[in-house]
Amino acid sequence: MQIRLYNTMTRKVEDFKPITPNHVGFYGCGPTVYWDQHIGNMRTFFNNDILKRMFLANGYTVTHVMNFTDVGHLTSDEDTGEDKMEKGAARENMSVLDIANKYIKSCVNDMNLLNIIPPTHTPRATDHIKEQIELIQKLEKLGFTYEIPGDGIYYDTSKLPDYGKLGGQNLSELRGGARIENNNKRNITDFALWKFSPKDVKRQMEWDSPWGVGFPGWHIECSAMSLAEIGERMDIHSGGVDHIKVHHTNEIAQVEPVVGHRWVNYWVHMEFLNDLSGKMSKSKGDFLTLSLLESKGYSAIVYRYFLLLASYRKQLNFSYELLDGAKNSYENLVKRVGVILKDADANFDKSAVEKWKNRILETLNNDLNTAGVIVILQELLKSDESTSTKVELLKFFDDILGLKLLENAKALSDNSNNVIPVEITKMAEERLTAKKAKNYALADELRNKISDAGFVVEDTATGFNIKIK
Ligand code: AMP
Ligand code: ZN
Repeated sequence: MQIRLYNTMTRKVEDFKPITPNHVGFYGCGPTVYWDQHIGNMRTFFNNDILKRMFLANGYTVTHVMNFTDVGHLTSDEDTGEDKMEKGAARENMSVLDIANKYIKSCVNDMNLLNIIPPTHTPRATDHIKEQIELIQKLEKLGFTYEIPGDGIYYDTSKLPDYGKLGGQNLSELRGGARIENNNKRNITDFALWKFSPKDVKRQMEWDSPWGVGFPGWHIECSAMSLAEIGERMDIHSGGVDHIKVHHTNEIAQVEPVVGHRWVNYWVHMEFLNDLSGKMSKSKGDFLTLSLLESKGYSAIVYRYFLLLASYRKQLNFSYELLDGAKNSYENLVKRVGVILKDADANFDKSAVEKWKNRILETLNNDLNTAGVIVILQELLKSDESTSTKVELLKFFDDILGLKLLENAKALSDNSNNVIPVEITKMAEERLTAKKAKNYALADELRNKISDAGFVVEDTATGFNIKIK
């Protein structure tokens, strides 16, 4: 069935045509690992997961690469400021390597919590310094580079006539009008390929290169690693919308002159998660993480459900009220699935299953319309199909949406055999503590919350007992 995706390059929803039949190679920009990932970053990684699941549901094989940036990302897109990794290391009084290891681990953990299928490859920038140097050398040979003494090797964007095509930037205006912030760059859009280590300072991360000791610019890593892992032609390159005008624009400038043809067929960009002050960002410091949501009683899967209700191309505002709504709907869904699970057997209606699957794929393939798929899910549960047909289709929904409906419904019904969600047990424990402290208002509030989630907490001589309502 035809897949359609919005391509930032052409600003149109286009029919997807793979380079190799039934296979897709895609590279999604990963995080800079100097801190925990916030739930906004996770939204982008989740959207990459949905993209991948769509191809898998259509019978494609997928090579998905996501990098970990562990060097070279400076605090300013102007190639000035501190290296974010060195800054993170100083903040926590740890080495850069330890900071990278710590936050790669926490990112992988959060991706697992959110039920993101692990990418096929997760290269680290520092493991591919050689490839980055080689790519810069190729650009140097082609005459695209110049040196700013004491600063680094820069890319001369005036040498590439169609520089800026991805973001539709008017370069003559950009180049002519603005004052160049950064030192001696020839054009405001020029960017660093290799930065020299500052004189008399030993950086934790630095390498020898043909130009002197230093470290790679941020953009070169994704180009070098995607060329190494996927090749000179790529189906899809993706990332947050903040990457369109600088990072991905610069990546195109680095790769297309070297390979001599169009590099990426579809550019897919994902919109932001906002908090009250706009785009959620790490640099602001007080960001939300999945573990914080979990500590407040919202499982990562509830957050996943919340994300599925919005199009990846629309900004999404985060609020606890909206998350509460998602939590209720998700828990109701799980309960309804739990009910039908009990009487399902292997005798499903094959033609009905095919019919529903086609409808689901038609909706999903239309530029990742996950909210539309959830509407079909609700319709299926209300429909007259047999419970076995429903369960067979629920497997398909779970493969696409990653909501663990069958797994959680089973856990819930085993619950009569005492598998209670952790957050419910936690609330019951907090309620007991509140009661002991004679804080009855809090105890009642917690009992109501437990009840809203579909459970009853009863006091016993030794503590409490939880049952499904
Ligand atoms: P970073 O570590 O800042 O490079 O971000 C990693 C990925 O998360 C990139 O693809 C960003 O575009 C994306 N991202 C950053 N902030 C947000 C946000 N508030 N909402 C959605 N995606 C984001
Ligand atoms: Zn990237």
